[in-house]
Amino acid sequence: MVNLRPEEISSVIKEQIKNYTAKLETTDVGTVIQVADGVARIHGLENAMQGELLEFPGEVYGMVMNLEEDNVGVVLLGDQKNIGEGDTAKTTGRVVEVPVGDALTGRVVNALGQPIDGKGPIEADKTRPVERVAHGVIDRQEVNTPVQTGIKAIDSMVPIGRGQRELIIGDRQTGKTAIAIDTIINQKGQNMHCIYVAIGQKASTVASIVKTLTEYGAMDYTTIVASTASELAPIQYIAPYAGCAIGEEWMERGEDVLVIYDDLSKHATAYRTLSLLLCRPPGREAYPGDVFYLHSRLLERASRLSDELGGGSLTAIPIIETQAGDVSAYIPTNVISVTDGQIYLETEMFNSGFRPAINAGLSVSRVGGAAQIKAMKKIAGPIRTELAQYRELAAFSQFGSELDDDTRERLAQGERIREILKQPQYKPLAVEKQVISVYAVTKKYLIDIPVERVLEFEEGLHEYIDTKYPEIYAAIRDTKEINAETDALIQKAITEFKAQF
Ligand code: ATP
Ligand code: MG
Repeated sequence: MVNLRPEEISSVIKEQIKNYTAKLETTDVGTVIQVADGVARIHGLENAMQGELLEFPGEVYGMVMNLEEDNVGVVLLGDQKNIGEGDTAKTTGRVVEVPVGDALTGRVVNALGQPIDGKGPIEADKTRPVERVAHGVIDRQEVNTPVQTGIKAIDSMVPIGRGQRELIIGDRQTGKTAIAIDTIINQKGQNMHCIYVAIGQKASTVASIVKTLTEYGAMDYTTIVASTASELAPIQYIAPYAGCAIGEEWMERGEDVLVIYDDLSKHATAYRTLSLLLCRPPGREAYPGDVFYLHSRLLERASRLSDELGGGSLTAIPIIETQAGDVSAYIPTNVISVTDGQIYLETEMFNSGFRPAINAGLSVSRVGGAAQIKAMKKIAGPIRTELAQYRELAAFSQFGSELDDDTRERLAQGERIREILKQPQYKPLAVEKQVISVYAVTKKYLIDIPVERVLEFEEGLHEYIDTKYPEIYAAIRDTKEINAETDALIQKAITEFKAQF
């Protein structure tokens, strides 16, 4: 039996009484003095925090955005119909949070993490604040594993690594979303959680994306965060941060995540609306002064964590829509400066049938090369230079005149590279097949194949290897390299196939 000594107990009690300070549970209550356009001003909330959630009557919530001398500016996250002047607003001590974890896989949610797919409530056991400070330098490691997009032009020329931020930029209707969706479809079986954040898009567009992803079996590992054009600006403003928070949960569990923000131009517009309504001073193009921070703090959250922290990664693919190809406008330059490269899509190429319409000259990936598999890195090198030479020569050769053999060959080679980089939508290609295509073209096996038959040749070659030399694919898949033996085998296969083509 434990021996309890009364004098000891009483001394503990005395000590506790001495140190007792009255802790009153208080919630601050303020009064609504103005409400319009989804923005409210509240008087009497001296202790409200930036970003804090406020509760209004009827379970409507608002987020504190402006802390001013005599009032607080709040954006409403729900219907403002039932809120009027004189209503009360309570502080909650919480910030905006979303549910996270495996329960979100395969779901379509709004910016607050509430389900909108009619599949019932989300049984998540955890939530995370939508905003957080990005991981620091010590927490990270270098990018060294590829994200296979399955798109030849990207994986060979502008490779993306896990943990990287790669921008897709281009005018309207140039296939930006198509690249993102194909990349998601290609993640099947690659241990990647995908999150597609739709910002300010039509509800019908989002619905067709959900349908497509379901058809290709990609919803098994994908979450969609949708804030459509009809929703309030504050909701659209929160959406990408919510998507990122959902991804971070998996990243911190040591898993790999791919997040697509489609698109940040509309996000910036939503933020501008919200800022103007809050009477913040407008700056260039009427955006508020902190619009740079809007996207930099979001994209900094993409990272590849160190092994001590589990080695997870979050790859960010933001999309920006330009006007008439103007990449030097305010928002595009901001986002270009905080990403590790961009994939530039061109209207002219798109319309003349070169799809995906990736402009190789203006597209770069500043870290992805380190993440490319060795086989691809070894053979894809010449593509960029040969394409650049082609563009230069093509401009001159328009003047007709006699061309020497060397020039003619370079032109022919360039045309074939351009042709083989064409790829239809929803047809991502496994990396080992891409390697074969790139091998065939860079080693000049296609130089005497008519340009219009290049894609037919490519498809036939893939099939031929599939049936006669499947060990080639296996070798590239397993070793990620082309050793001397495989190299000889590839040459043999291509020569054989070409003879019967
Ligand atoms: P928006 O500016 O409206 O968001 P976007 O740049 O996202 O447009 P998409 O919607 O991806 O462009 O594509 C525009 C159209 O081009 C779609 O009809 C799509 O099916 C088609 N498309 C995109 N990529 C390809 C491709 N590789 N091959 C054939 N068609 C394509
Ligand atoms: Mg789009």
